[in-house]
Amino acid sequence: MRAARIYKHGGPEVFTVEDNVPEPKPGPTDLLIRQIRSSANHRDVWIRKGLSDDTFQIDLPAVLGVDFSGEVVDVGKDVTQFKAGDRIVANPQFACGHCHACRGQRPQFCMNVDIANGSYAQYAKVAESQAIKLADSVSPDAAACFANTYITAWEMLINRARITPEDTVFIWAGTSGVGSAAVDIAKLVNAKIITTAGHSHKLDILRKRTSGLVLDHHNDDIVAEVMEATGGVGASVVIEHTGAATWERSMLLASAGARIVNAGLTTGQALQTDAVVMIIKQLNIMGYSLGTMAGARAAVSFLNNGSLSPLIGETVPLSDISRAHEMLEGGRVAGKILINLEE
Ligand SMILES: [Zn+2]
Repeated sequence: MRAARIYKHGGPEVFTVEDNVPEPKPGPTDLLIRQIRSSANHRDVWIRKGLSDDTFQIDLPAVLGVDFSGEVVDVGKDVTQFKAGDRIVANPQFACGHCHACRGQRPQFCMNVDIANGSYAQYAKVAESQAIKLADSVSPDAAACFANTYITAWEMLINRARITPEDTVFIWAGTSGVGSAAVDIAKLVNAKIITTAGHSHKLDILRKRTSGLVLDHHNDDIVAEVMEATGGVGASVVIEHTGAATWERSMLLASAGARIVNAGLTTGQALQTDAVVMIIKQLNIMGYSLGTMAGARAAVSFLNNGSLSPLIGETVPLSDISRAHEMLEGGRVAGKILINLEE
């Protein structure tokens, strides 16, 4: 099969696109899926670079990519819920199933999670436990741009921040992967949205995608604008996935009693926290990473009924996967970078 592998860590140039990579062999509880699309995520960049955190470690050579979706072509002997011909999308995050949190039915707090890699390939192995059926109406493009960002954003907004139509949800970088998913989910709940972008073409896209306030995070005084738009109250929910460059402002633009949920640190992890602001405002600061199967199933149900639609910025052939990573790291693309596995 055709796949993009890395044999060593490094820059975008370390990818090798090969036509004779062996297809993965499904185990007894696995599905083998044929894929025609996937998408690029920051997690793939961190694994490619070989960052030291345990969750970014991988045996080489490796096929990267965490956005699995496609048609089931073979199933292991113990698979009961899926058959050849089904279309599925997969939650790439596994809870371990046997730690204190998992035994207590709280898999969101599993500290032994594993993330499946291998979606930059025409065939992929997916555990039955991680697969969710797709409706016929969901396009392969939307399916390939959904799992990593929408499952993460779903957990942040729905299960952690528990947003309601009464909330003003502030979302940094609303055309990024997690940011655009968060905007889509906040719209679904009918919450008030304030979001940002840093380039004029991204601002234009956001103004079409939401009727909420859209701010330029390079040129606007974000804290002052949010305070003005909320009558001096601030945002009741802040969706953080950017980290060092935005964290101090996230705390300042939050309302008293706000929920700040962080699932990413794309601008750096050294966060300056003014503890006085945290205490005086009684802020609820929460961390999150990807999501549970319960959250994934709920999110996919809204993809299946047409209520959620991923923002896709560029389509890049697999043969050009190095360029897809350059584009992702360059931060100029508004929306997900879709990978066409057929080219
Ligand atoms: Zn566990």
